[in-house]
Amino acid sequence: MRDNLVYDVIVIGGGPAGSLAAVAAGRKGARTLLVEQYGYLGGMLTAGGVGPQMTYHAGDVQVVEGIPGELIRRMRKGGFSPGHMEDFAGYTYSVTPFDAEGLKLVLEEMVLEAGAELLYHTVYTGWA
Ligand SMILES: Cc1cc2nc3c(=O)[nH]c(=O)nc-3n(C[C@H](O)[C@H](O)[C@H](O)COP(=O)(O)OP(=O)(O)OC[C@H]3O[C@@H](n4cnc5c(N)ncnc54)[C@H](O)[C@@H]3O)c2cc1C
Repeated sequence: MRDNLVYDVIVIGGGPAGSLAAVAAGRKGARTLLVEQYGYLGGMLTAGGVGPQMTYHAGDVQVVEGIPGELIRRMRKGGFSPGHMEDFAGYTYSVTPFDAEGLKLVLEEMVLEAGAELLYHTVYTGWA
């Protein structure tokens, strides 16, 4: 294998979990590759059109912060989300509406800023 194809961390799947794992690994200095079968990030939240995101809270307490919290702050700054809101339907504690195209953009920015590399349109089928 050529040196420039050696990674410390390879993440398969660029949904919210994989994308933010790649951000975390890249920020720690690991040479990181994120492999995604589609041509954008976000997984079910973009490709599947599910939303709003829920939930970052338990009662009135925000229990999910860290890099996901940063994602929402960046989404707000970009005008792609109003941030966390009370769930007036009573399904859960809070809901976080978002624009799916904005999520694709912000996730990609965060991954690349972290120094991770992206490999789109690639399906992991096992190591050769
Ligand atoms: C019907 C439904 C409704 C939902 N509604 C909501 C909701 O309203 N609000 C909410 O917050 N959550 C909702 N969820 C849950 C939410 O979708 C998940 O919690 C979230 O998507 C999990 O993120 P993930 O990154 O783990 O996985 P995913 O979002 O599934 O991302 C996995 C990624 O991996 C990629 N991938 C998979 N296999 C490979 C491979 N072999 N090679 C390359 N890439 C691959 C996929 O393309 C995808 O991008 C819903 C889920 C479902 C199924």
